[in-house]
Amino acid sequence: MTGLQLVIKLRDIGITDITVLEKTHTIGGTWRENTYPGVACDVPSHAYTYSFEPNPDWSMHFPPGAEIYQYFKKVFYKYGINFVTRFNEAVTSCVYNDSSQKWTVKSSQGNTYEADFLFSATGILHQPMLPDISGIDNFSGAKFHTSRWDHSVDLKGKRVGVIGTGSTATQVISALVNQDDIDVTVFQRTPQWLVKMDDRQFSPEEKQRFKNQPWRMKLIRKMSAIVYSLGTKALTCDSWLDKQIHKLMEWNARRYLETAVNDPVLRAKLTPAYKFSCKRVVINAKYYDAIQQPNAHLVTDAIECIETNGIRTKDGTLHELDVLVFATGFDAAAFMRPMEFVGKNGVTIEKAWQKKITAYRSMFLPDFPNFFLMLGPNSPIGNQSVIEISEHQTAYVLQLIKKWQDGQLSTIQVKPEAVEKWRAMIKERMGHTVWVSGCNSWYLDADGDALSWPDTWQNWVALMKNVNTDDLVK
Ligand code: NAP
Repeated sequence: MTGLQLVIKLRDIGITDITVLEKTHTIGGTWRENTYPGVACDVPSHAYTYSFEPNPDWSMHFPPGAEIYQYFKKVFYKYGINFVTRFNEAVTSCVYNDSSQKWTVKSSQGNTYEADFLFSATGILHQPMLPDISGIDNFSGAKFHTSRWDHSVDLKGKRVGVIGTGSTATQVISALVNQDDIDVTVFQRTPQWLVKMDDRQFSPEEKQRFKNQPWRMKLIRKMSAIVYSLGTKALTCDSWLDKQIHKLMEWNARRYLETAVNDPVLRAKLTPAYKFSCKRVVINAKYYDAIQQPNAHLVTDAIECIETNGIRTKDGTLHELDVLVFATGFDAAAFMRPMEFVGKNGVTIEKAWQKKITAYRSMFLPDFPNFFLMLGPNSPIGNQSVIEISEHQTAYVLQLIKKWQDGQLSTIQVKPEAVEKWRAMIKERMGHTVWVSGCNSWYLDADGDALSWPDTWQNWVALMKNVNTDDLVK
């Protein structure tokens, strides 16, 4: 998603000598890799769309994964990005050459490329996390992570175990339970706050109206940005009003649980003991119904180990299973790794991030000139359309590249002290957010510091509009 729009926008400012390296045989990132049953996006279709490529043909209010993939494919060919893309070339190393001020990039095909500017558009939440549970290799049935769904496994008549209850798990579970001949056992470690998302198809008339009056699509985009902005303000600030809005949001989620789940015992198991949105809220209108079906079983006892024919919980019960699905999320701090990454004076990315994974304005690292880490640490992911985030970051970098084209900058390199100031600001802001109110989530790094943007969407957009060259090495 990020890579495609980068090519288009770089060309807009006259940069046409571009090479895109893609590790697999096709485009799509998240939407290529995640093909699990029920995969969809919980951001409204017209907001999960490039601003320059509206799509009146979205079938649903919230886009199904396969349709998003097709949308990106259409953009890829429409803009001729295929002419500059090399498939099956995973980047193995990127080394900055101090004297030539260029990057040398090597790929798995053994090819070498030289570049003035280097972008990492490798996405977020792309390295699957398998749980650290003893005996995981002993299971004799099929087992796979949600982002590596094995479609050759026929689930008909099978007992399927799903570990995890995040956004992915709830989509998978709802889709599997819907098929009567699959028996689904859900292993929940922590209950999630759920928000109801009613989805429906766009009618042919609505699609026609989008075609005839494109402002309607823009309006949906705007409205959804406003709703998400209000939400993030309540999560990241601590004024009296923000706290009241947050309380209202939690009340709404609690009420949804109370009205959707009849059995008080099951309801108690599904009730989180932490504040609303401390973890990324699950937006799903089907899960509560699914978990109450006769072919669904919720297990809340902690997992002891995985055995040949199932999962044993700490109470001693063996839950017999034929297939095991890990809906256990991703390493949110992997960014462009694994890849050898060496900046100025031989500084490796491991050394640069020894103390903390960070980047000035999420994109710039002091020892890595002319390198831009798209959707890097502290990008406001999780609570906005990620497409909009990529477009803002791209606009920011392009303004700097234009200054380089005009001869105002010889390299684009951030000062180390600017990164320190940035880190201090992030740490200070994090203390105001609901994310530090007592839960584990991928919003936090191993030290409990923010990996996501701990402030309002408005403040982030303002930051992206204000290109600050004082923080760059002159
Ligand atoms: P996730 O939110 O990180 O959830 C992982 C789940 O696995 C959690 O329930 C976690 O429990 C559980 N888990 C992890 N290790 C475990 C272990 N050892 N034993 C038992 N349970 C374990 O991952 P995700 O559901 O894949 O979602 C990641 C993000 O992707 C979301 O937050 C969202 O931003 C994005 N996403 C978006 C959409 C969309 O519609 N736009 C759809 C899917 C995903 P704990 O809570 O106890 O850690």
